[in-house]
Amino acid sequence: MPPQIAALPQDRGFPVPWVADWSGNTETIALDPQDGRILACDCVPGRGRAMLGVNCAVRQRQGMRERLCGTCGTPITGHLTMIGTPDMPYSLEPALHIDCALFSLLACPRLTRGSERVGVVVMDGYTLLEDRILGVNHDRSLIRTILPPALGFVSGGVLDFLVAVIPGTAQRFHATEWLDANRHAATTPSPASTEGHA
Ligand SMILES: [Zn+2]
Ligand SMILES: [Zn+2]
Repeated sequence: MPPQIAALPQDRGFPVPWVADWSGNTETIALDPQDGRILACDCVPGRGRAMLGVNCAVRQRQGMRERLCGTCGTPITGHLTMIGTPDMPYSLEPALHIDCALFSLLACPRLTRGSERVGVVVMDGYTLLEDRILGVNHDRSLIRTILPPALGFVSGGVLDFLVAVIPGTAQRFHATEWLDANRHAATTPSPASTEGHA
């Protein structure tokens, strides 16, 4: 297990991705000078139960903006790796280090189960859009919209997540194909696999 993952808080004996939300949290609407209305969350990693598959809005936005790895929460200096589908046009999951992506793909049953449909996208950068909550429908579902940051503030909607728009220059792989090409990095530490870690 890479050291930056071994250092993560655990739940039920498994390291919990940095971006995951934790139970017992309260979500509130806060006012930010730059972003206008935002969804705030007071969860504390390591306290309560990990809500796997649910991203904390606060850490998701921080990860997207500061290019922090969604798995270990530390900065990514090299290529940005995202796990999703091979043809995804955008991502709500923050980018990962190569060795963190390898660990996630090999360790997470949720990802490996449907491995033909799982893809890995590698890029040098992305642009951000905002996922804002404009209101609530009669059936209590949320009315959401995706807006460029310049319009997000004036929309008055509550900023929930940031959306990474994947550039046309990104390299796209099926997860199995990418794993085969990179798997050596998971067992044999090399300069490429430790790049970006302090
Ligand atoms: Zn949270
Ligand atoms: Zn990482």
